[in-house]
Amino acid sequence: MQDEYGIIGFPLKTTFSPTYFNNKFATENIDAIYKANPIINIEEFPQLIKNNPNLKGLSVTIPYKETVIKYLDTIGANAAKIGAVNCIKIKNGKTTGYNTDVIGFELSLKPLLKAQHNKALVLGNGGAAKAVKFVLNKLGIAITTVSRNKNKTFQNKEIETINYEELTENIINEHLLIINTTPLGMYPDVDSFPAIPYNVIGNNHLLYDLIYKPEITTFLAKGKQCNAIIKNGYEMLLLQADAAWKIWTQ
Ligand code: NAP
Repeated sequence: MQDEYGIIGFPLKTTFSPTYFNNKFATENIDAIYKANPIINIEEFPQLIKNNPNLKGLSVTIPYKETVIKYLDTIGANAAKIGAVNCIKIKNGKTTGYNTDVIGFELSLKPLLKAQHNKALVLGNGGAAKAVKFVLNKLGIAITTVSRNKNKTFQNKEIETINYEELTENIINEHLLIINTTPLGMYPDVDSFPAIPYNVIGNNHLLYDLIYKPEITTFLAKGKQCNAIIKNGYEMLLLQADAAWKIWTQ
């Protein structure tokens, strides 16, 4: 029987994973198929597992990274701490949830870090921000979240949260690592960008955008203009997919 893999999410219109994995299966002669499963409601998840006995692994994307957890048999320690799952292993009908976004983010960020990157501004406070903050905590980097809604917490531990109006030039000068976890600038909305004072960004800054399409978002272009080091989300995307493959096949 051919092994099956897939992704759940909605609407799954621009997902990278089916092309990535089916190309991998073709080039590495792996007898498997990877399908997109655009489920309208997460309540369909148990039936999907039941109806597809050859399913060995699933990726999880927007909007189900958090809501899928209650349908899983077990959950890995990191995914439990983060409160988000983007990778599910299925073995003997039992499901286990993992978070490989943290692996992708950590491995792609680390080579760029310098001593001055000890304070980070995390723009946005959604699902991906949780994985980013988990890694920053692990690396001992102080975090300030910039959110349109100030009253959100992470891991039951208060993280300083400010809104965009409170973001002064001084705060930008103090935080030399700035990570965009908002969808602002993502294709096709390529002209939008987070509202921060770009004029004080300089060559000690590292600007990381989780977006990978376009390759250079307006956020990154503005940073580059000010001589900052810039990094997009493509390597993170590849690394999280590779980490998922290892989990499914280990
Ligand atoms: P999400 O849960 O919808 O969260 C995005 C957050 O951005 C929201 O919670 C919101 O935070 C903020 N936001 C949304 N719209 C905004 C707007 N118009 N103006 C200002 N802030 C806004 O999405 P996500 O799952 O975290 O994904 C976020 C981005 O990361 C997406 O572009 C996704 O493609 C990317 N991503 C990339 C990878 C990768 O491997 N490279 C992995 C995961 C995600 P506040 O309400 O607190 O302001």
